[in-house]
Amino acid sequence: MSFHELGLSEKVLKGVEAAGYKTPTEIQMLAIPPAVEGRDVTGRAQTGTGKTAAFALPILSRLERSPAPASEEGHGEGRKRPRKPLPPVRALVITPTRELALQIEEAFKEYGKFLGARTLTVYGGVRIDRQINRLRAGVDVVIATPGRLLDHMGRGSIDLSRVEVFVLDEVDRMFDMGFIKDVRRIVAAIPVERQTLLFSATISSQVKLFARRLQTDSVLIEIGDQTNPVETVTQHVYPTARDRKLELLRTILENENMEMVLVFCGRKDHADFVTRRLQYYGIDAMQLHSNLAQRERQQALNGFK
Ligand code: AMP
Repeated sequence: MSFHELGLSEKVLKGVEAAGYKTPTEIQMLAIPPAVEGRDVTGRAQTGTGKTAAFALPILSRLERSPAPASEEGHGEGRKRPRKPLPPVRALVITPTRELALQIEEAFKEYGKFLGARTLTVYGGVRIDRQINRLRAGVDVVIATPGRLLDHMGRGSIDLSRVEVFVLDEVDRMFDMGFIKDVRRIVAAIPVERQTLLFSATISSQVKLFARRLQTDSVLIEIGDQTNPVETVTQHVYPTARDRKLELLRTILENENMEMVLVFCGRKDHADFVTRRLQYYGIDAMQLHSNLAQRERQQALNGFK
């Protein structure tokens, strides 16, 4: 199957080709056609399956095919001093972390480079005034983490009243991170009449119920086995005593052919500690957690890439 059979628009297909994609992944094959038709989609898919393109490509096709409606006069009615209306946001993507927001924006830019779609990431930890200025100038797609988006809503610096497509990415993680209340407040601010695309690595009964509230007549797509990680991943377990973990990690990192390694720690202070020890051993390591400034987080990611 080729991307040409999925109903995508012309410039978006050019973007896909320029990205070097030859054939759609499974989630793309199954999710793109109904999403292009405007239907709601629930996708169970993990990172690495191509799910970002599965929602980004239909959104970009919509932007290409139906240019933004002219901004309505009379917005902000009742004010004494009429203010220039905020340009509406047409697609809103909610994701649990800043890093994911940046990755998603990168994907939109790559696939949409022949369209000139205006994208903006909205997350905390960075100055809000620049985001406000960009929103005033007009943005088609906003990719946001919940907290900062609520901040903009509270300030009236974003107009979500004309959102056409709403995407919730990694819903199970939003539940884990306690973001669902925030998401409900966001949902209350967008039109009832909209397309909702929802993605989650696992679909628990909680996620299912949530999806049912947000969507109408949604197409359910499930990729891979719910309990298993992506099939391309091989897992090994090394049982060890707690006080020898660091030594074991060092041995693994030094002895095997390891080029890029992600080490997950249970706590932020553990991440600090492990990073410092590895650096002491002469291993090029950087830490990444939410106590760091966004600049440091980005540096760590760039260094990793
Ligand atoms: P995602 O699951 O969206 O994080 O995507 C995982 C990786 O697969 C990203 O690096 C994408 O650029 C890449 N990718 C997505 N779709 C395709 C495709 N159809 N062909 C080749 N690579 C792809």
